[in-house]
Amino acid sequence: MSEQSLRSALLHTSRRMVELGLNRGTAGNASVRCGEDILITPSALPVAEMSEADLVLLDKTGKVLQGRKPSSEWRFHCDILNARPEIGAVLHMHSIYATTMACLGKDVPAVHYHVAIAGGDSIRCTPYTIFGEQNLSDLALEALRDRKACLLGNHGMIALGKDLEEALSVAHEVEFLCEIYWRTLSVAEPNILTAQQMHEVKAKFVEYKKRS
Ligand SMILES: [Zn+2]
Repeated sequence: MSEQSLRSALLHTSRRMVELGLNRGTAGNASVRCGEDILITPSALPVAEMSEADLVLLDKTGKVLQGRKPSSEWRFHCDILNARPEIGAVLHMHSIYATTMACLGKDVPAVHYHVAIAGGDSIRCTPYTIFGEQNLSDLALEALRDRKACLLGNHGMIALGKDLEEALSVAHEVEFLCEIYWRTLSVAEPNILTAQQMHEVKAKFVEYKKRS
């Protein structure tokens, strides 16, 4: 995709995050791989006021190549895209249910079989650390090992995808899982699927992908 098409897709995804109730105001940020470089949303600009020209082009070290000040979370966007060549897009948001779980410091277990969409038997939650610093990026990379999503303790969620469309779908799914987990916990201790049951789900997902 051309840089212009990626700018358009990144702005569209940022707007969809707001429309789907996953993000609001100036919270949250998004990035997409652009050749050797990275396009990222800017700092302190609400999505409603954002244009394609406001999106910031960074090199892989995080240096601004063109545009305004990047999101304060540019470190984990760059580190994830550098460490995970199969990943093309990174979304971060403070959505209600994912952030609720993150504030409880809870990993999300296999409370519903769709947890496998994020790549494993659970969605990990990092310990709390202050936003915008290298330590948050280091903890996020560890929590994202073999996964396409994690929770950031007392903060929010990161969702990944091969492209923006997949990352948005993963984010939406993780928010659903966190809501289900929260709702079940508020009634009683939920039934958690076993490792064997999740193994079967993952095998079936592979089969399903091959046929679709
Ligand atoms: Zn944040």
